[in-house]
Amino acid sequence: MEVRSDEKKLKLQVKCEKISELRTQHSELLCLMENIKKTYRIGDEDVEALKGINLQIERGEFVAIMGISGSGKTTLMNLIGCLDVPTSGRYILNGKEVSNLSDDELSVVRNELIGFVFQNFYLMPYATVLENVMLPTIYLDRTTNDVEDMAMEVLRMVGLEDRAKFKPKQLSGGQMQRVAIARALINGPELILADEPTGQLDSKTAKEIMDILAKMNESGRNIIVVTHDQNIASYAKRVIRISDGLITDESLN
Ligand code: ADP
Ligand code: MG
Repeated sequence: MEVRSDEKKLKLQVKCEKISELRTQHSELLCLMENIKKTYRIGDEDVEALKGINLQIERGEFVAIMGISGSGKTTLMNLIGCLDVPTSGRYILNGKEVSNLSDDELSVVRNELIGFVFQNFYLMPYATVLENVMLPTIYLDRTTNDVEDMAMEVLRMVGLEDRAKFKPKQLSGGQMQRVAIARALINGPELILADEPTGQLDSKTAKEIMDILAKMNESGRNIIVVTHDQNIASYAKRVIRISDGLITDESLN
């Protein structure tokens, strides 16, 4: 009887050690995707946008996701950013399984962890630069003064503190994207997701935007940028290629 119980204890101990080892491994990871699939249903036709994505992203990485139009980049980005949930598969973000969360739960995760930058900037035209940057803080329990200080701080980080009172239409495209980056930074996210952030910009301005994202990565943030432009991808430390809903290639820069 004694022996059997010792054996049981030992088995339990080994099991616990294995679990804790797994935890430590996973705590290095910001994103872990296992066999992620996404199917959109249009009428009675299914569009398989992602067909089984396996992806691991460690903390502190700067990753580019490349692929031609229609390959599934935005779909993957939306899943990584918890803007949508997969049809099947497992997604662990920051140590927490998020594959089956409700819309409300997803929005909490997004707000705490992720800043978004899009190709079309998505600034509010009638709000000032400062007000645009302050927008993501409406869910935080903060005083207006605190929030204004935070907004000015992130505007300084993108070199736009002297444009705080401007409206978006008084800015250049590159400046608008810098405002969007400041807005993405204001809640102190660990991860910045940028979907074709330079798609609307000339190559010189695109370089300025990528330099800012590279600087954000150097100060410890994770950056994931979606692009079909090799020059933009060259800023990342790792490039993942996606084709027809599957990862086809990976390389280090
Ligand atoms: P990319 O960003 O690489 O251009 P997307 O992820 O936008 O690719 O699209 C991948 C595939 O999924 C395409 O065939 C596209 O038509 C389809 N798709 C994307 N979003 C939707 C949607 N909301 N409803 C239906 N089909 C979609
Ligand atoms: Mg896209």
